[in-house]
Amino acid sequence: MTSTPPTTASAVFNNKDLSNWVQRNGDPATWIVADGIMTVASGDIMTKELFTDFRLHLEFMTPDMPEATGQAKGNSGVFLQGRYEIQVLDSYGIEVPGKGDCGAVYDQFAPLVNACKPPLEWQTYDVFFRAPRCNEDNQIVDPTRLTVLQNGIVIHNNVQLLGVTGGSAGQNVREPGPLLLQDHGDLLKYRNIWIEPLLLEGSDKY
Ligand code: MG
Repeated sequence: MTSTPPTTASAVFNNKDLSNWVQRNGDPATWIVADGIMTVASGDIMTKELFTDFRLHLEFMTPDMPEATGQAKGNSGVFLQGRYEIQVLDSYGIEVPGKGDCGAVYDQFAPLVNACKPPLEWQTYDVFFRAPRCNEDNQIVDPTRLTVLQNGIVIHNNVQLLGVTGGSAGQNVREPGPLLLQDHGDLLKYRNIWIEPLLLEGSDKY
């Protein structure tokens, strides 16, 4: 997938500073930014802007932690609307990735295949996110849906989510939400993050 954002996209990370971000508690964001790259530090951060349906592009790099295993090996996460975590982890080489591995919708859906690159290489996520739809009584009649490509390979094909994932920043799935990046104590790097908000539906004209 291209990393060139469409003209309608928001550059949520401008590759210069964290002016579009806050800490999870609302304080100014304090991750480290240098050379167009931000590095995890001091807590989760999230965008000030909130999103409903959208297309997301981001790039991440896992650190080289050869002694670490499992959830301790380069853990971070991309929380869509602050509620649904696409796992970020060093899962390179795992033959059958599970619901906790890189690319998983955390603890709900394993990626279809392992599309991971080794640590210290840039990787991409491209996400097509569809918020849940409600009827007039505000009951959800169509759940949250996700399609995800990792490094250009489809790892989720329009999965219907089972609800928010652990660590969600908000439970009201009917409201728009931020993009949230997780601090799990490891030195993940991120760059080139943009979000294109999508219309909820087209015209009903023939
Ligand atoms: Mg995580």
